[in-house]
Amino acid sequence: TKQIYNFSEGSSQMSNLLGGKGANLAEMTRMGLPVPHGFTITTEACHEYQLRHNLSAELLQELDQALDSLSTVTGKKFGAAKDPLLVSVRSGAAISMPGMMDTILNIGLNDESVSILARLTGNERFAYDSYRRLLAMFGNVVFGLPETAFDQILTDIKKAKNYDSDLDLTIDDLKEIVSRFKEIYADSDQGEFPQDPKEQLLAAVNAVFDSWNNHRAQIYRQENHISEALGTAVNIQEMVFGNFGQDSGTGVAFTRNPSTGEAGLFGEYLINAQGEDVVAGIRTPQPVSVLQVSMPVLYAQLLDTAKKIEAHYRDMQDMEFTIEQGKMYLLQTRSGKRTPTAAVRIAVDMAQEGLLTKEDAILSVEAESIAKMLHPEFDPEDLKKHQVLASGLPASPGAATGQVYFTSADAKKASDQGIKVVLVRSDTSPEDIEGMIASQAIVTSRGGMTSHAAVVARGMASTGVVGAHDLEVDYDSKTASVKGQMIHEGDWISVDGSSGNLYLGQIKSRDAVIRGELSQLLDWAKQTARMGVYTNADTPKDFQKALDFGADGIGLTRTEHMFFKSERLLQMRRLILAENKIDRQDPLLKLLAMQQGDFYEIYRLAAGKEVTIRLLDPPLHEFLPHDEKEIAAVSQQTGLSVEKLRARIESLKESNPMLGHRGDRLAVTFPDIYEMQVQAIMNAVLRLHDQGIEVTPHIMIPLTNSKAEMGWVRRLVVNKIEETMVKHKLSMAYTVGTMIETPRACVVADEIAEVSDFFSFGTNDLTQLALAFSRDDVASFMPDYLKKGILPADPFQTVDTQGVGQLMKIAIDKGRRTKPNLDIGVCGEVGGDAASIDFFEKIGVSYVSCSPYRVPVARMAAAQAHI
Ligand code: PEP
Ligand code: MG
Repeated sequence: TKQIYNFSEGSSQMSNLLGGKGANLAEMTRMGLPVPHGFTITTEACHEYQLRHNLSAELLQELDQALDSLSTVTGKKFGAAKDPLLVSVRSGAAISMPGMMDTILNIGLNDESVSILARLTGNERFAYDSYRRLLAMFGNVVFGLPETAFDQILTDIKKAKNYDSDLDLTIDDLKEIVSRFKEIYADSDQGEFPQDPKEQLLAAVNAVFDSWNNHRAQIYRQENHISEALGTAVNIQEMVFGNFGQDSGTGVAFTRNPSTGEAGLFGEYLINAQGEDVVAGIRTPQPVSVLQVSMPVLYAQLLDTAKKIEAHYRDMQDMEFTIEQGKMYLLQTRSGKRTPTAAVRIAVDMAQEGLLTKEDAILSVEAESIAKMLHPEFDPEDLKKHQVLASGLPASPGAATGQVYFTSADAKKASDQGIKVVLVRSDTSPEDIEGMIASQAIVTSRGGMTSHAAVVARGMASTGVVGAHDLEVDYDSKTASVKGQMIHEGDWISVDGSSGNLYLGQIKSRDAVIRGELSQLLDWAKQTARMGVYTNADTPKDFQKALDFGADGIGLTRTEHMFFKSERLLQMRRLILAENKIDRQDPLLKLLAMQQGDFYEIYRLAAGKEVTIRLLDPPLHEFLPHDEKEIAAVSQQTGLSVEKLRARIESLKESNPMLGHRGDRLAVTFPDIYEMQVQAIMNAVLRLHDQGIEVTPHIMIPLTNSKAEMGWVRRLVVNKIEETMVKHKLSMAYTVGTMIETPRACVVADEIAEVSDFFSFGTNDLTQLALAFSRDDVASFMPDYLKKGILPADPFQTVDTQGVGQLMKIAIDKGRRTKPNLDIGVCGEVGGDAASIDFFEKIGVSYVSCSPYRVPVARMAAAQAHI
């Protein structure tokens, strides 16, 4: 099969075969944009290489043909002494892996052609600058010589000559650098730099294929769940030179701001520079807006190109460009990495500009990433009390506080010990990826908005500040200083990725609010979704939070959680410890008074939104004292003797509390507890009724197993409601439904539906019972099941579609056979999980209910599932 494609033969559809970079170079070529000529060696060739560890004869032959035709279109010849063709060799996997793979520029130069190039161009400085770059890149990437060895020579010469920048290097300096670079080769056991251009090229291709398996690439793939099997393509392209002089340069431009999403060209460039100079942070680049003044024609062209490319791809793009002697070329475009904040703004703006439909806009934002936008921001009051230590560029928004570490390894080690870490460095390289993952925030003293640190921080939605120039990092002593002020390893620092400010110490943070574009996008999602999104809330405070995040109402109030507060716990204990109905009366009355107040508050907050209240579902032992000290205290509080108390605790003890005296079993044994709770709900409803506010109570029964059981409990509840309604001459609608939490309930759901007004799946218990995995004990074995690939995901977090999911499907089908319009929710943990929500859409779930912070994620996921 064909293993090499000319840029003119490919398209953006072919990224699996040509890699992202190759496919987009082909696409831009097809669009007629100024792309230097070149070709791509396919990912299939990479597969073959991985198997045989060398380049096949067929590939070598195709490569010769491709080089020949490149010579024809460029009018230069690879390996020729006269007018030599120089090329770049760059990797490009199907999914972009920034900074993870390697690039070599200026391949084809050697001791002879460098002087020819100098003569032909009349630019000796440029020729030797190109050659020293080749020597360094090739040495590092192909021969594995340390990058620092090359950097050191550059630094030494600049220091000796008192130069500020690489640009001050003279022709003689560059010649000197070239000969010292060659000495590094000579001193290594790899041997001399290969003078044969073909040998250089083949070694470079091999190196790119090998780099697929280097450590940092593997870490990146693991972190981002990229398959090992994909492989990388190799792009070979005629060089254009940004290092030709003052009329040349190279840069990176995003079609919109990748940090905020703001419209307009955003990026950086360097005059008289090549390749990695901009991202490597060697010189501080200029913002592209400066081009508007210095090279207005080129700026206009870049702007025009950005518009064209963005409209073509209908997505924010990250482009790489080079200017050679006043002419612009494009070297790459790809979908730009962006913060969740930027993703949302770009989606909404593009929909409003007509570039995307609302549905496309919803699909363009990863549901899970919304959670990251709800991270806290610094409390403005507390912030005022802190002085800015230093400022840098706001590379990735967020507010993070942590302890300072200066190396990736130290950061990782500290984080493994549970320490909140801020990684502080002069700059970062791909080797630092593990430390960056482990950190709350990344701070660098050098680099721009497109530096490695900035790109990676945005990609991980981690807080980032880069280019904080006042910060001087000293790795040897593990300290940093700002104008004489010292920062040591372990010191607390606070990082504001939205303003770029750094502060010493810890600053309080507060919850983010939903506004602007996010609010707009969630509105569209609400209009688009079929399923409703409710919240699990036990207190008015939780509920308020969920309402702020757009919840449709409450899908689950766990009333037992209302009893954990101290005064209530006492009454609850008195209730449980009571041995007969008479003794239960007083604690029940006290609890009634407290609960009706809670329900009143919640109904009032709901302001007409639906609220589902679940009656008590406590494993009773959770409420009892556990040790002698607690027993003594409770004995005092309740007036029960210690002996009696111990005996009572003993009699309530269960070997298997999760399968014991809980759920509606409690109603069967102690009906007065459920009656009290219904009374509390009715009292709250009556109080609101008196104020002119009508409520429709939805009462939910936990853990039912059969029609007989649900029927019995339902009668208990309904009798209490009806009795109260008659007594107060109140007419009102209400529903009494059940949770579906046991496999048996799923199978007999048609019968249960006869006595149930709605269902809500308690997937926590259902998963526990279906898999026989104790929900409180999974931590001891779950990690192994995940690591060994026996389970694809934790079934308590992402629904087990094949097992639990099928039980749900049976219950839905059977339930709706009895009542076609049966309302069916999901209120276990998976109700807030995007992948699970996609499945719930398919099996006809009516709504999900999840914790307040998951509400916006669930809303996006519900909309995406329905599109
Ligand atoms: C469930 O079991 O999924 C549920 C929502 O109830 P709880 O977690 O309170 O048992
Ligand atoms: Mg449950």
